[in-house]
Amino acid sequence: MTRAYALLTTALLPLVLFAQSPLTPTDSGVKQRRIVITNALVVDGSGTPANGPRTIVIEGNRITSIAPGPAKALAGDRIIDARNKYVLPGLINVHAHIQDERAGWPMRQDYQFLVWLASGITSVRDVGSNYEKSKALRQQSQSNSITAPRLFLYAVLGMNPAPSEANEAALRARVQQIKNNGADGLKFFEISDWAMRIMQDEAHMQGLRTAHHTAVAETNAWHDIKYGTTSIEHWYGIPDAALRDGVQNFPPQFNHQYEVDRFRYAGHLFRQADPVKLGQVLDGMVKANVAWSPTLNIYEAARDLLRYQTQPFFKEYLHPALEKFFAPDPNNHGSFFLNWTSADEAEWRLNYRLWMDAVRDFGRRGGLIGIGEDAGFIYNLYGFGMIRAMELHQEAGFHPLQVVAQATSNNARIMGKEAEIGYVRPGYLADLIIVDGNPLSDFRILYPKTEGVPQSGKIEWTIKDGIPYHGPTITAQVKRIVEQDRKSPQPRAAIRIEDQDGH
Ligand SMILES: [Zn+2]
Repeated sequence: MTRAYALLTTALLPLVLFAQSPLTPTDSGVKQRRIVITNALVVDGSGTPANGPRTIVIEGNRITSIAPGPAKALAGDRIIDARNKYVLPGLINVHAHIQDERAGWPMRQDYQFLVWLASGITSVRDVGSNYEKSKALRQQSQSNSITAPRLFLYAVLGMNPAPSEANEAALRARVQQIKNNGADGLKFFEISDWAMRIMQDEAHMQGLRTAHHTAVAETNAWHDIKYGTTSIEHWYGIPDAALRDGVQNFPPQFNHQYEVDRFRYAGHLFRQADPVKLGQVLDGMVKANVAWSPTLNIYEAARDLLRYQTQPFFKEYLHPALEKFFAPDPNNHGSFFLNWTSADEAEWRLNYRLWMDAVRDFGRRGGLIGIGEDAGFIYNLYGFGMIRAMELHQEAGFHPLQVVAQATSNNARIMGKEAEIGYVRPGYLADLIIVDGNPLSDFRILYPKTEGVPQSGKIEWTIKDGIPYHGPTITAQVKRIVEQDRKSPQPRAAIRIEDQDGH
């Protein structure tokens, strides 16, 4: 080395180091001016194949450029070297419930938010919670004064209107009031044809999107098609719109209010549907732009109870409030496994096959499919439920790239946010995950690091609104919360919040 060259490199070295300091775990949760992700393999969320290596520049809370070559380094740049790593859009959980208690036991709010981020979820559509409380959290998440995914709130309209509201003007006023109170959308449960027609009409005029959790009710998927529901949640209402005999053929003693019955016999519905009629329903949904968010994970215990009761994730991540809530008890919604038999599981396995085929068929016909987890019920942990749902969409026959699109850009489209989130593209909000491995070959690498699941824990960074959260660091925080809360005896909360869901 010549003397001049040595001098030159010595002089430049500090400059180069200053310009390119790597992001470290201690930066977790700290807003950066500019983050440069180098050598990334990008799966952009649109369903197209991986592309790379790319350099992604994040300035503030936006992705400002994605280019093949290295970016022009600026002083103060923080670098993430993503060589052999995959960058995906942050996952969007399109069916969730913000919860801070279960079975009357308090649960720290940050437990749920941190485990969502640790599972790569950067946006959540809440379809039923304590609205005023959630509204404050939405604001705090927007301003990043709390560590949480973006929150979109669909206010629950409840079941059918109260007698005092059984007139058109009152129903319209109620939808307007929900709009004026800042909701991002409306969630319907079982509702009559008459009320649904009026409320949907008003929701369209107010520019509110709607999610419908149909039940065994007067209205079914044909009403969603007719009145323009944005998304059907779960699956009820779809086979019901195609029943061979025009009626749910349940045994005489069936009582919809009794959950053991409700969940047991729900598992008979898809085989009571006529395949030709079912195809017509799916076509009707496609034509009317009714999306489907099937939440495949949330009923899975019905086809495989032991799998769900003995999940390896429970050891480190099951919060004691959830543990109480999941224990079979008719007072806890979804905790209905009182005498669940192999015969019930056989029925549900068949129901799953037909359900998955219908979802796959809906996709083939051009339908918009999203993914949400509905966790906090039926042995499903927040975050883990989302990843499991992705595995189940793969089992239904979707290509992993389609599954990623369903969990990201499709969900953004369902919420009408596809110009802001759901893609890794210049101009989009900086919501993305950096994965030390290829999720297209194994979605399990997205689970938070779990003993006994060797491939888990590969999300290295979850970036939400430009703020980097270090995967292992926030995962450790979640584990600490669980550990601490298990030690302190939990007092029963004075007031139990009514569970805003009916599954
Ligand atoms: Zn739900």
